Amino acid sequence: MATKTVLQLNKVERSYEDASGKLVILDKADFTIGQGEMVALVAPSGAGKSTLLHSAGLLERPNAGEVMLNGQECGQLSDDDRTAIRRNEIGFVYQFHHLLPEFTALENIMMPQLVQGLSPKQAKERSAQLLDYMKIGHRASHRPAELSGGEQQRVAIARAVANAPRLLLADEPTGNLDPATAGYVFDALEALVRQSGLSALIATHNHELAGRMDRRVTLIEGKVVEVTAG
Ligand code: ADP
Repeated sequence: MATKTVLQLNKVERSYEDASGKLVILDKADFTIGQGEMVALVAPSGAGKSTLLHSAGLLERPNAGEVMLNGQECGQLSDDDRTAIRRNEIGFVYQFHHLLPEFTALENIMMPQLVQGLSPKQAKERSAQLLDYMKIGHRASHRPAELSGGEQQRVAIARAVANAPRLLLADEPTGNLDPATAGYVFDALEALVRQSGLSALIATHNHELAGRMDRRVTLIEGKVVEVTAG
């Protein structure tokens, strides 16, 4: 049975103008991800991975083409509508955790839920569950500076899924971690994605982790290309 499409990019174009002329980063790029799929984005620095993730995540508007989320074309929507969709449907994880330093791990995960209108009690319960799920329940009251790099990233992942998005976009989420820590952070991320039925597009330079995902894609001359094994 075909899975439901969560994200579809149709002929997305993104270019930047600089002193030396026009720099085309995405050139009529097509890409589709289905519900529950985990896709690795593996490409050299400068190939356009962040540009692709930001376009898919409605942080940037493409110069042309369509970004469809759950069947809705989002390119022509107002900034307010795009922000609302981003808050409800999309979670982001970056290479750096971007947690708020003055708040505890639990409070950092509660924050997006409070913005969405959940009661503090509901937000606290869900945040505690997510921390347990990421196997760092015992660190709930610690501030980011009191956490290890791997723990910080697990809190950042929990925060990204706090509002139960359908799509998780991650830009080298284990890029700052040593290989062993990267492995166990990815274990937690994978378990969460598999259990929740989230779709995930994850940029990584780590070929072992890429090998554990359902599909691998790369960027070649501005197009998204499937990488086949072998
Ligand atoms: P990656 O994430 O694969 O390293 P990026 O998407 O960050 O690649 O960048 C792709 C290219 O686009 C790079 O050459 C980068 O310098 C250029 N670029 C990114 N953002 C801008 C911008 N705002 N203005 C001009 N050039 C940019």
